Amino acid sequence: MHRHDQNFDQKYKEHLHRKIAELKKERDAIILAHNYQREEIQEVADIKGDSYALAVAATKAKNKVIAFCGVLFMAEGAAMLNPDKTVLLPVKEAGCPLAEMITVDKLRKKKEEYPEAAVVCYVNSSAAVKAESDICCTSSNAVEIVKAMKEDKIIFVPDKNLGRYVREHVPDKELILWDGYCVTHMRLTMEEVLKAKELYPGAEFLAHPECRKEVLELANYVGSTAGILKYVKGSSAKEFIIGTENGLIYQLTQDNPGKKFYMPTNEFVCANMKLTTLGWLARSLEQMMYVITVPENIAVKARKTLSRMIDVMEAKK
Ligand code: SF4
Repeated sequence: MHRHDQNFDQKYKEHLHRKIAELKKERDAIILAHNYQREEIQEVADIKGDSYALAVAATKAKNKVIAFCGVLFMAEGAAMLNPDKTVLLPVKEAGCPLAEMITVDKLRKKKEEYPEAAVVCYVNSSAAVKAESDICCTSSNAVEIVKAMKEDKIIFVPDKNLGRYVREHVPDKELILWDGYCVTHMRLTMEEVLKAKELYPGAEFLAHPECRKEVLELANYVGSTAGILKYVKGSSAKEFIIGTENGLIYQLTQDNPGKKFYMPTNEFVCANMKLTTLGWLARSLEQMMYVITVPENIAVKARKTLSRMIDVMEAKK
């Protein structure tokens, strides 16, 4: 049974690869994939990266259509920055629970409570929440962005783990944290990391700042997916325990053939990221669905919060 099924699976995969390649040409489309996507998606992607790298790539793309293999807030970001292009999200249910833990109404109330505070908003948020914020940040530049703010009081939304990490690195500012978290990164426990360290004593542990505080305390390096990829390339260590979503293993293995990577738990999977399959991607390009748009009144303000972040980072170069 297995032999027959594997054969069938392989043939079906090849069929989908051909179909996607044809549709890409026909539609003048580019495929962007987040590092947490399934391997089969990362294999066909034109550009892979974290949400920030993909947003920048989207603005540079010359194609008419962007098939965004990720979650809704990322496709929204690409749509907002590229009003002249068609942005497709292959699975409309692919949302981000963290981004959904904050609403514009609740943020407005918080701003009323602290009128003197500036709002720093992690890119993992909706366009509407970005529009209501003063500046954006990513997991790799959050510390620098908060440091660069002239205000002493900062409302940091929506990830409390990243917020707490920033607070530790910028002690002279008062950070008011939102009670949001990434359901995937919160799953990793200290016990699981300690067990993995015992199993692989020579391995370095690398963690994403969306992880719990006690997990971050065990890390040799804390950083974004882009940061982890860079760190591993430059490290002389040969083995690593990876404290982020398991999709990153694909790129890590591609970039570092001689090194070994271990997941501290099999449960480190973002269900939303894994919704996109080759079949859904092919259907998306064929039927031009689901087109993601952001109302211009929101996009205008949200673009400002993003460009402020880019300006701060550029000024530091
Ligand atoms: S990994 Fe976390 S932050 Fe990223 S999409 Fe999944 S739930 Fe959202």
